[in-house]
Amino acid sequence: MTDFHALLKSTIQARRRGRPLLLFLDYDGTLVEIALRPELARPTPELIELLNRLAVRADLKAMVISGRPLWELQEMLPVPGLNFLGSHGGEAFISPCLHSQQVVAADKDDLLHWRSRLEARLQTFPGWWIEDKPLGFALHYRQLPEEYLHEFLAILNRWQEQVRSEKRFQLLAGKKVLEMLPQGISKGAAINEILSLPSFSRYFPIYLGDDITDESAFRILQGQGLTIKVGHPGSKTAASHFLPDPEAVRHFLNALAFPLEDRNGKYFKSSG
Ligand SMILES: [Mg+2]
Repeated sequence: MTDFHALLKSTIQARRRGRPLLLFLDYDGTLVEIALRPELARPTPELIELLNRLAVRADLKAMVISGRPLWELQEMLPVPGLNFLGSHGGEAFISPCLHSQQVVAADKDDLLHWRSRLEARLQTFPGWWIEDKPLGFALHYRQLPEEYLHEFLAILNRWQEQVRSEKRFQLLAGKKVLEMLPQGISKGAAINEILSLPSFSRYFPIYLGDDITDESAFRILQGQGLTIKVGHPGSKTAASHFLPDPEAVRHFLNALAFPLEDRNGKYFKSSG
């Protein structure tokens, strides 16, 4: 466990070596608190302003990376100069060029097949819903009453075994969410690709994320960047550092947006 001040210090040391920062920011559970439904996890004006301040820094490039669709991230976070990796890295907007990946037609038919099988098996349970996404779909069950959880997961696990046996899709488990995607897409794979681009070879990467889907990114960045798990120290992770919650993340980002030399006290109050 490294506290906020030590994190900041190591970041500044990294910058002293003359490299600009490449900041990867997960959204749900990292920039904002997790909400009962994804549409309730909206950014505050303060967060938008903070991202604006980060995006204008010449010594830093910021990218929001999320399982959410690209269009949704761009709509929620209208910040000029901010970059986005949506659908777990399956879609990308890197200013000023746009890349995106489309799921092939055959996959779509298969996806619908697996989706309807899942719906049929879960129909007697309350508190879940399916969100269609650009490259797949997500099953959300945050509102499933606790007493159904055991039986629900037993059915879900059987369905997952069948999906996996076909080896055509991958399943990504998050916090009360299970996502089905084409093979090969992950946050780690997307970051690996970005870091291999010549325009990013000089950057020092920092990654902040809270969930299992961030672990592939933590593993890719082992030994070559700063990786920060948002959550309690002690949780199993490949990240090198911890921050306890989104509030601490925003505090950390404030320090990056307003480094010591030009901090005016607006966001930083003396702790003394
Ligand atoms: Mg998250």
